[in-house]
Amino acid sequence: MKIILNNNNKELVNKVMEYGGKRVYECFQCGMCASGCPVASDTEHKIKRTMHQVTLGLEEQIMDKKAIWLCTTCFMCLERCPQNAEPTEVVFALRRVSAENGIIPEAQIEVANNIYHLGHAVTVEKGIKLRNKVNAPLLKTAGSDKKYIDEIQKLIDSTHSYSLLRIEKDWKPKRDDVIGCD
Ligand code: SF4
Ligand code: SF4
Repeated sequence: MKIILNNNNKELVNKVMEYGGKRVYECFQCGMCASGCPVASDTEHKIKRTMHQVTLGLEEQIMDKKAIWLCTTCFMCLERCPQNAEPTEVVFALRRVSAENGIIPEAQIEVANNIYHLGHAVTVEKGIKLRNKVNAPLLKTAGSDKKYIDEIQKLIDSTHSYSLLRIEKDWKPKRDDVIGCD
């Protein structure tokens, strides 16, 4: 593949640095990050490659695949990087760029709406019912009091996240089956 470096290439790396991936140029492609990444072998998210693509400015290749959204943000790569290039921060920055371009997977939009309306990334109604059934003590969470939800909404409303993450005022949870104790 022929790669032509031009102004667009610099645009991506500059944006990534501005959005938190300040040390991306420190990467010398050793691969320590990828060797510890829990999703590298099973998904298209390859952090070493992503670091390289950023410095080359290959924006389309990164954004179109949406693989950056498969990162679990476990910070293993950041811990292991001998150059302290902070690859996890680069992933965060890329997600910001991607969101600004309107490229966000549906699952992330659902999570954002869950947090905004319920105070949780996943629905927990089913778990609460199960707890009630066995008389387990009331579970206090971010979603158990309307005042906490109000605070969460106030915070999100004061940022760009509301529009970037396509939060809907009349949104309803799609399902209630995402629960560990099923
Ligand atoms: S980000 Fe760090 S660990 Fe990963 S390839 Fe670059 S220098 Fe190596
Ligand atoms: S933070 Fe993301 S890229 Fe880094 S090791 Fe974890 S899953 Fe992989």
